Amino acid sequence: MKRGVLMIVSGPSGSGKGTIVKQLENDDNIKVSVSATTRKPRAGEEHGVHYYFMEKDEFLSCVDDGEMLEYNEYCENYYGTPLMGVEPFLKEGKDVILEIDVNGAKQVSKIMKCVKLFILPPSMQLLKKRLCLRGTETEEALNIRLNQAHFEMEQAYNYDYLVVNDNIDDAVNKVKSILIAQRHRVFNMKDKLDELLK
Ligand code: 5GP
Repeated sequence: MKRGVLMIVSGPSGSGKGTIVKQLENDDNIKVSVSATTRKPRAGEEHGVHYYFMEKDEFLSCVDDGEMLEYNEYCENYYGTPLMGVEPFLKEGKDVILEIDVNGAKQVSKIMKCVKLFILPPSMQLLKKRLCLRGTETEEALNIRLNQAHFEMEQAYNYDYLVVNDNIDDAVNKVKSILIAQRHRVFNMKDKLDELLK
């Protein structure tokens, strides 16, 4: 069985990366990893669907038990990727998407072959507007997220691809094209070539 592609999708809160990733989920060959977090659920968010919502001590004991591929503290909450949502699917040949922050991306790319993609907002003004419209943040939390957005975008130089989200459908198509291109990199097609040359 050919191993799937591991793709990391990062971008500041309000860049629309969640909406893009959600659309990718409709593809049967793609598995979107569900992260664990100690953040409280927002309206409409479901345990096991959007996140595994956990208490801090439960989260940290999963980390101690080696159950997280990576984890990070972000805006005073922990976020992490449970290993069980990644490796078995890659082995099955599915492409796995991790929607994680820049620190998590750094950790994962040190230990696994992956392609790193960063979603950019069309402008900083629009990013601020999107965060305000979301209305889920207090004024203080909004400012923390805006500063965080700036910090994260500075790290985007280290990614493999940048996609500007000025239109959801276009952005989704670009991400899908990158995934297809990645599947055809020589290191991902090597087994086929070996077989043909046998
Ligand atoms: P939010 O609270 O807006 O859902 O997510 C905040 C940030 O945490 C986003 O940048 C998101 O990509 C990141 N994040 C979500 N899940 C994970 C994870 O499993 N690991 C890491 N390192 N970051 C995550």
